[in-house]
Amino acid sequence: MNKKEIEKLQKHLFKKDRLCIDELSQKELNQALSFSEEYKVFLDKAKTERAAAAEIVKMAEASGFIDIQTALKTPEKYQTHKRFFSLFRGKTLALAVTGDRDMTEGCRIIGSHIDSPRLDLKQNPLYEDTDLALLKTHYYGGIRKYQWLSVPLALHGTVVKANGEKIDITIGEAPDDPVFVISDLLPHLAGKSQETKKLSEAFEGEKLNLIAGSFVLGDDKIKERFKLQVLKILHDTYNIQEEDFVSSEIEVVPAGRARDIGLDRSLIGAYGQDDRICAFTQLKALIETDRPSKTAIGLFFDKEEIGSEGNTGAKSFFLQDFISDLLQLTCKEPCHKNLRTVIINSQALSADVNAAMDPNFKDVHEKTNAAKLGHGVCITKFTGARGKSGSSDASAEFTGLVRKLFNDNKVVWQTGELGKIDEGGGGTIAKYLANLGMDIIDCGPSVLSMHSPFEVSSKTDVYMTFKAFKTFYC
Ligand code: MN
Ligand code: MN
Repeated sequence: MNKKEIEKLQKHLFKKDRLCIDELSQKELNQALSFSEEYKVFLDKAKTERAAAAEIVKMAEASGFIDIQTALKTPEKYQTHKRFFSLFRGKTLALAVTGDRDMTEGCRIIGSHIDSPRLDLKQNPLYEDTDLALLKTHYYGGIRKYQWLSVPLALHGTVVKANGEKIDITIGEAPDDPVFVISDLLPHLAGKSQETKKLSEAFEGEKLNLIAGSFVLGDDKIKERFKLQVLKILHDTYNIQEEDFVSSEIEVVPAGRARDIGLDRSLIGAYGQDDRICAFTQLKALIETDRPSKTAIGLFFDKEEIGSEGNTGAKSFFLQDFISDLLQLTCKEPCHKNLRTVIINSQALSADVNAAMDPNFKDVHEKTNAAKLGHGVCITKFTGARGKSGSSDASAEFTGLVRKLFNDNKVVWQTGELGKIDEGGGGTIAKYLANLGMDIIDCGPSVLSMHSPFEVSSKTDVYMTFKAFKTFYC
């Protein structure tokens, strides 16, 4: 073979490693950049699962989705209507655009999660020490504790008062709002208590206490007057008392907005991109899906970061209930047999992020199978740890179907594993939906600094993820 023939053969045989920026036309790049602006606005409005759910409902309603419970009351009125949503306990939701084909032929489902790692206030959070008022926290999901020290933090949450009244709280997001902080040691004194210890032992969960004030109410004959001052401000502002914390869910998240990163503004830095990057792209894809062949469903779960537990997590019966409701609306008996037929014939993407190869920590990745920023949406055939343990491992057949779909529609995609085999690992909602019988594979963009207060994504990946999801629904 001559050189030309060998080059031709190589081009034919090798798998292409593609970079979005090389593949996008100027027009599509402009679309990607303006899409990212919308995404940043969403991130700023959706810092908790409750806030994300409320924002998704708002966007869905503006695009013609109606509450499925309303539709079920007078189904005859909604016989030609195709767009429905169901919000469950304010924290998890499902959207559907009904397809031309019968639901028992299966649905196309994309499921993401809208909870993110954070600190929650404890149920008895307020105390004072060293003439400061402080708030105790209990972390939620996998965090690297040291990343939460010495950064401005905001409070978002819901308090249910003794009389049952519900109050929403947001402190630390408006430009003139106060923020909170967890203090850290100065380098001069960190020698023994931090620097000679293992990282896992140097930072303790019980030391993640927020500074909440330093003024007092009354003179030094008044006990706990620092704590009293903070409680008075909360009472004056929200009319709440100390016992109200018991029935509250107040989340501590990084204060501030999503930002562009880099001189070329090609990247986005923000809290909570795992997994609101998929929630947003999936929502936009569904909103733009008009007459799908198969019913298109978008799921937005809570509690993924703590194992998909509880009535709002992916292990719950929420999806089955939603499909039953849809069956009823489309004049199909919502019996067990029909429900099972829909699920068995359904195909799903578990929309979640993967770890992008980090130039500073390349050794935890296996470079032939690591995802890279800017290389498009990442297909992850399996997750898990220690020999795929805890993974649903998608079949070759279904992986092939998704690959063909993406290739046929010019979606720039890559594949990735979550780090080296023996390095660690993780899981997603994929296995819980797989347990029901449907085909499912993990699919989403890769991000840097995952689970940190400031995660990094690529604007072209955000757009390519949207394109991938839209392709899957159509
Ligand atoms: Mn995730
Ligand atoms: Mn996560």
